[in-house]
Amino acid sequence: MQTLLNDIYTEVLPMLGQGKVANYIPALACVDPNQFGIAICDNRGEITKIGDADQEFSIQSISKVFSLIIAINNYGPELWNRVGREPSGLPFNSLVQLEYENGIPRNPFINAGALVVSDMNQSRFASPHLGMRDFVRRVSGHEDIFIDREVAESEYAHRSRNAAMAYLMKSFGNFENEVDDVLHNYFSACALRMSCVNMAKATNFLANRGYSLFSNEKVLSQDETSQVNALLATSGLYDEAGSFAFRVGLPGKSGVGGGIIAIVPGRFSICVWSPALNKMGNSLVGVAALESLTNRIGWSVY
Ligand code: GLN
Repeated sequence: MQTLLNDIYTEVLPMLGQGKVANYIPALACVDPNQFGIAICDNRGEITKIGDADQEFSIQSISKVFSLIIAINNYGPELWNRVGREPSGLPFNSLVQLEYENGIPRNPFINAGALVVSDMNQSRFASPHLGMRDFVRRVSGHEDIFIDREVAESEYAHRSRNAAMAYLMKSFGNFENEVDDVLHNYFSACALRMSCVNMAKATNFLANRGYSLFSNEKVLSQDETSQVNALLATSGLYDEAGSFAFRVGLPGKSGVGGGIIAIVPGRFSICVWSPALNKMGNSLVGVAALESLTNRIGWSVY
């Protein structure tokens, strides 16, 4: 496995410099684009890694996976009355479908869907972002995971588009709490900082039928785990989900911080990070590295 990662590292290094770091907030725009790391966690908890795999990055939309899991644990199937399970085929921050689909977002991974899920978690917990931080600490076995307040506040200062989505959903009756409260919690969750290593560990239960080796707990049932992986496969990379399935062939979730998780059900969880993004807002080198990895060893689930 280490030889494999060494080869991929050599292959993708010349690509660093392609793509563009997220620049919608200053705290993300100043990240050095020439970084790359990858960590693979097998279902015994062994880690294989290379590059900047211990460097922390802003997890951004990967946090949507954790908020969905917390909502599944608290609401069960009732959750699906408020958010759909279909790919959107549109950018992650699009509003257009909300207007003609009665304020029900297409899936939990586009921003509108993640905001509804955050709203549901807000109805159950006073500080859902702290609950999520504690959850990732537990399932990764790393206590040193923190929220970057500068990123969270900068996101809040640039909240107009996410606020517009939330208010539109409120107008359709699909938003219970004060929009500002939910936005604060959503941005704080996006601003968690994790490394590839602790992210691969934190998401390993998705490769292990819902069981976390690091907290010794059943986080999701086997069926719920399959369902989350199905949603990751169809919607985790937004309007690049089809091409990601074609090129990489694994359930995955990206974030504008440049991180991507990918799950090989029954075997491995993977986290790759490289901050420069392609036009769809996904890590350019990250997708290329995952493609090379899965093609070399035939890990596509299809
Ligand atoms: N915090 C970002 C936003 O809400 C997350 C987007 C992303 O990672 N795709 O716009």
